[in-house]
Amino acid sequence: MTVKAYGAHAGERPLEPMDISRREPGAHDVQIDIAYCGICHSDIHQVRSEWAGTVYPCVPGHEIVGRVSAVGAQVSGFKTGDLAGVGCIVDSCRHCGECGEGLENYCDHMVPTYNGPTPDAPGHTLGGYSQRIVVDERYVLRIRHPEAQLAAVAPLLCAGITTWSPLRHWKAGPGRKVGVVGIGGLGHMGIKLAHAMGAHVVAFTTSESKRAAARALGADEAVVSRNADEMAAHADSLDFILNTVAAPHDLDAFLALLKRDGTMALVGAPASPHPSPNVFNLIMKRRTLAGSLIGGIPETQEMLDFCAEHGIVADIETIRAEAINEAYERMMKGDVKYRFVIDCASLAA
Ligand code: NAP
Ligand code: ZN
Ligand code: ZN
Repeated sequence: MTVKAYGAHAGERPLEPMDISRREPGAHDVQIDIAYCGICHSDIHQVRSEWAGTVYPCVPGHEIVGRVSAVGAQVSGFKTGDLAGVGCIVDSCRHCGECGEGLENYCDHMVPTYNGPTPDAPGHTLGGYSQRIVVDERYVLRIRHPEAQLAAVAPLLCAGITTWSPLRHWKAGPGRKVGVVGIGGLGHMGIKLAHAMGAHVVAFTTSESKRAAARALGADEAVVSRNADEMAAHADSLDFILNTVAAPHDLDAFLALLKRDGTMALVGAPASPHPSPNVFNLIMKRRTLAGSLIGGIPETQEMLDFCAEHGIVADIETIRAEAINEAYERMMKGDVKYRFVIDCASLAA
């Protein structure tokens, strides 16, 4: 079937309307009519070929929510009319150790929602800036939020799980002082989730204008990272730092804020490398510099259910598809509070 989408034909070209094809649902497939799709900074990196290996046409989008419009004969967990979500993963090998543990995100054969290999035309997956998607039910998420919150639920499918997974892994919770660096799509969810987990949250931003907003999102303290005195006040004090910054920057400034045995996990994936950290910043306090990739399917469901129970959604600005290129430019300037979400009904126009 043919559906309308928004994507790019080359890295230096703007996104434009295009028709794409979706497979007819197979026995295990769920067909979802997409209501909303969030815009992740990874979409920009990928569609502009800032990371290696982008294939075109490229239709980004992996923060997908909508309503089930058909299911295959063997599907047991979803029925027509259900609210459903799709995040960053649409397939994996299903039998390696990672898949067995529900950590499909670390499977060597994980198929991302866009730019991943697939037998479907055109040979690579096409994402959620589109009217409809067809996905095996193993990778489809249940949404238990009220329907009125659907647009604001979309960013949980990437920004939510990418911050939830490391916060849980490194045990954010009561009695732990947790830093979140960068208050964009990921960072604002990191603040909300770490706060809901009971941690003492310190937000780090380069934008003076976001200082007050950080407190409103749930941060106990907000630091403008360009201010050395403010940074020094937190030296050797944080148990864990979640670093979401999308550009190369001085990691030492943040490593110095970790207490002995503290960890900083990088989730931001800039196109060019960070300046190397000073190893003495690690050695002298047995600190760890780590990374984390999205999250597995079971923990994504766990995060969505936690957010439904605690009334947590993203802070969003909803846009029509024609405004995607402008939204990208605003994100490059840090001008987003805190996630753009595409109203996919606008694709029909
Ligand atoms: P975003 O909404 O654009 O936010 C990034 C934030 O980083 C900005 O709002 C800004 O916050 C800060 N920042 C940007 N440029 C900076 C600079 N030059 N110096 C210091 N701070 C800067 O992006 P996002 O969607 O949250 O994604 C963030 C990064 O995570 C991207 O690289 C994305 O590809 C990556 N990502 C990784 C995973 C994973 O699995 N590891 C998953 C999703 C996304 P302030 O204004 O507060 O300073
Ligand atoms: Zn993403
Ligand atoms: Zn696997």
